[in-house]
Amino acid sequence: MTSPSIVRTVTAELYDAHVLKNYARPALTLVRGRGAQVWDDAGNAYLDFTSGIAVSALGHCHPHWVAAVQRQAAELIHVSNLFRNPQQGELARRIVGYAGPGRVFFCNSGAEANEALIKLARLHGVQKAGGEDGKCYKIICAKNAFHGRTFGGMSATPQEKIQKGFKPMVAGFSFGEINNLESFAALIDADTAAIFVETIQGESGINPCTPEFLRGLRALCDQHNLLLLLDEVQCGVGRTGRFYSFEHAGVTPDAIGMAKGLGGGFPIGAMWVREKHAELFHPGNHGTTFGGTPLACAAALAVLDVIERDKLMEKVRAQSGPWHAALRQLAADFPQHVAGVRGFGYLVGVQLKSDPAPWLAALRERGLLAPSAGGNVVRLLPPLNATAEELAKSVEIFRAALAAKT
Ligand SMILES: *Cc1c(COP(=O)(O)O)cnc(C)c1O
Repeated sequence: MTSPSIVRTVTAELYDAHVLKNYARPALTLVRGRGAQVWDDAGNAYLDFTSGIAVSALGHCHPHWVAAVQRQAAELIHVSNLFRNPQQGELARRIVGYAGPGRVFFCNSGAEANEALIKLARLHGVQKAGGEDGKCYKIICAKNAFHGRTFGGMSATPQEKIQKGFKPMVAGFSFGEINNLESFAALIDADTAAIFVETIQGESGINPCTPEFLRGLRALCDQHNLLLLLDEVQCGVGRTGRFYSFEHAGVTPDAIGMAKGLGGGFPIGAMWVREKHAELFHPGNHGTTFGGTPLACAAALAVLDVIERDKLMEKVRAQSGPWHAALRQLAADFPQHVAGVRGFGYLVGVQLKSDPAPWLAALRERGLLAPSAGGNVVRLLPPLNATAEELAKSVEIFRAALAAKT
């Protein structure tokens, strides 16, 4: 057999004739990546601060990651969860090391991790109701949240643009306002099983839960026997300079959903559940064919290895100060366009005063890729190993784009 070839380009016609039109994409085909750089099929280079939406934690094609995945692919790729595999056990041990005493369930995406959290809440509700199924099932989430596109995730995501066309939603979700503890407390009743929030809301524009609010939620949950479930899918795995962003608040949740950065580009999601609730799952009541394959776990282990070996979280903490300051200077210099900057390590939102789409195009023309978020925000999500020069370059490009419109 001939050796496999790499498909290096695709015409817009061929792509658009065959791929589902569920995204409005710019005319850009990416074919190669290295560190924080990607190249399109015309050979143009971009500084990639999209990072595949906070996924490529080590940038593109990091040599340690590539070697780990290549080696594992040649050794063992998939065996299902009917058998143990060494990589899954080791990755679970490492996640428990960050999260605390507990157990880990592996899946393939953020939505699936959150789905497991929602199922955990239901199981807790059954226990709370003395074994009665379907009675204690309510979950309190946050306005402007984003938890994914499955029915559970959508139901926890109170946004018309996400729910429209798919109703009815799953029953039992209600919504408080982040950083308004009273608004959550008022929604609790005897049938409530859990509170479920993003520690820092990502898709809606980088809106953080304050440490006081998170501690308040923890107290409410303790008081009413509710689970505190935190969605760390976007803000977790080192992005804020701590492994989990709730570490800034010093709370311990009952379960954590994580995904995006964990595999460094290989699809993997995980739920960590605190030891005292881990027994709610038993053989048969949850599962996945693909979750936690040797290959996916080897990829995630490579990410954790590099984060630890290269002290990337320390670097994120050290470098984000000057970077945020330089971005804030943009807000000061272009008040007609920029309303402010919200930054937590390498999870940054630049609040614009108008629709971000033309700004994204202006950044792209100047060689910077970045995603938008709700509320006229441009997100900047560099890889965790971005250099100070790359961070500075992002500011330079942003400044040029702003100056061109003044
Ligand atoms: C991206 C995201 C999800 C969904 O993850 P998928 O892997 O796209 O299913 C859930 N929650 C948060 C906070 C996210 O940012």
